[in-house]
Amino acid sequence: MPIPINDPLHAPGGTLKRLPLLKAAVAFIATVCLCLCGLLYLQLEQSRRHDLESARIASANLTRAMAQQAQDTFLQADLVLGSLADWIQIDGYGPAVRTRLQQTFARRVLSLEQLHGLFLFDKSGQWIITSFEKLHRGSGIADREYFQFHQENASLVAHIGPAIRSRQNGEWIIPVSRRLNDRKGNFQGVLLAGIKMSYFDQFLKSFNLDDQGEMALALSDGTLLARRPFDEALIGASMARHHIFQHDPAVGASGDEMIRSDTDDIVRLYGHRHLQAYPLVVIAAMSESAILAGWYDRAVQSSLIVALVVLGICLFGWVFVHQVRNSERIEADLRKAQQALELIATHDSLTGLANRRLFERALGIEFGRGARQRSPLSLIMLDIDFFKRYNDTYGHVAGDHCLAEVAKVLKDCCHRKADLAVRYGGEEFAVLLPDTNLHGAMALAEQIRRRVIDKQITHSAAPSGYLTVSLGCHAFVPSSLDSTEVFIQRADAALYQAKHSGRNCVAALSREDSFDALERSDR
Ligand code: GH3
Ligand code: MG
Ligand code: MG
Repeated sequence: MPIPINDPLHAPGGTLKRLPLLKAAVAFIATVCLCLCGLLYLQLEQSRRHDLESARIASANLTRAMAQQAQDTFLQADLVLGSLADWIQIDGYGPAVRTRLQQTFARRVLSLEQLHGLFLFDKSGQWIITSFEKLHRGSGIADREYFQFHQENASLVAHIGPAIRSRQNGEWIIPVSRRLNDRKGNFQGVLLAGIKMSYFDQFLKSFNLDDQGEMALALSDGTLLARRPFDEALIGASMARHHIFQHDPAVGASGDEMIRSDTDDIVRLYGHRHLQAYPLVVIAAMSESAILAGWYDRAVQSSLIVALVVLGICLFGWVFVHQVRNSERIEADLRKAQQALELIATHDSLTGLANRRLFERALGIEFGRGARQRSPLSLIMLDIDFFKRYNDTYGHVAGDHCLAEVAKVLKDCCHRKADLAVRYGGEEFAVLLPDTNLHGAMALAEQIRRRVIDKQITHSAAPSGYLTVSLGCHAFVPSSLDSTEVFIQRADAALYQAKHSGRNCVAALSREDSFDALERSDR
């Protein structure tokens, strides 16, 4: 399909292909911002993981140190009990040795800081000897857990029981006890070392821990022995529901887990370690907020810097986009102005039809196309009859109006997009018809002639009394050897022939320079 010649966008030189600069800029800025945010996220996530990993290592070291110290504390008490048990096993605890035993008990208690006291009970649970000078006599300790344990268990291994209040002075102690047998192996009594709760309190306080941190020493069944911060109400409470006690404790086993506390709703990293030698567990918990305090500060700083950079980029982007839009607007205005100029340069202002410049350009293009496609090209030349007389009779203004009316007829008759109606000069018009043979051109010319008559424009100086036009048609299949001037001359010659034949008619000239057809009507 031929390119519409009267489309200003198809002016010679073509149009520049516009790059989607605005979209590209927005996409680029969005990508840069997203990348920055993504990098910030990755960096923060990495440093958060690093801080948590460091806390895990610190927690493992802490529980190892706690376990070692707790084990040493119990081991020392256990060794004292062991040596005393051996002694009592050999010498018994008759009245002859009691004073010496009491002094030995007292010396041992003085030598070990953690010891509250040493006690010897007979098989009914009555005090026999203690490290205290004044022997407390009361209902005995047969109701105590450790006493009942040794009564029922033949094992001579040391037993650590739940924390209790000493019946000697009311102090909180952790009992470490051993069973004593007579020579026949029957239950003879219990030897007890009471370890001061205050010692463990000091011991737990000696470690560095954040304000929301927790530490605890518990039996393997979850019974709490000591804790930091100290809370009397919790001593002896069961922690069996805690994840640490959910599985079978392996000797020396350790681990950690980040858990939200049921009691105070604080998330902590709970590290734990089972002691090698005793059924005990040490627990150290660091609050997540303390672990990540440094990370929070760094996160705020980095986020602030990235936010500022993103803001800067967005601001720059906004200015850039604004500038691009402005230049686009200016460009659009220029394009409109250019189109208007193009229209002025290629169209006639009185009739709105294409002018001779556009006609010549179109003729060149259509000649080339016709030659390439071997398709016929037709030209109709039109001249108003007795127009000089019309001007003379009705004046130039009426003449101009009359020219505009004829142009309107031409526009109405050119239905195809490729057809081009032209004001060729003065009161002469042309219609260029690509891909149209002579028959089609003549039919259109005849239609134009009739339409002008149908307008019934009074022309008293013309023989018919109305305004008429004469038309000359020429059609041929162009070749590269043909010239446009000859083509116009032939159409002009046909027009001359129409005039010569009495005007108000259509004449046609074939390629062989002979008048193939001559149509006249409504004279
Ligand atoms: P013919 O039938 O042989 O064509 O007779 P004619 O009077 O039309 O003769 P000619 O073609 O030589 O006359 C052209 C006239 O057209 C001359 C001029 O007065 C008039 N004319 C040319 N351009 C314009 C224009 O722009 N406006 C007006 N009003 N008249 C014009
Ligand atoms: Mg003329
Ligand atoms: Mg004329």
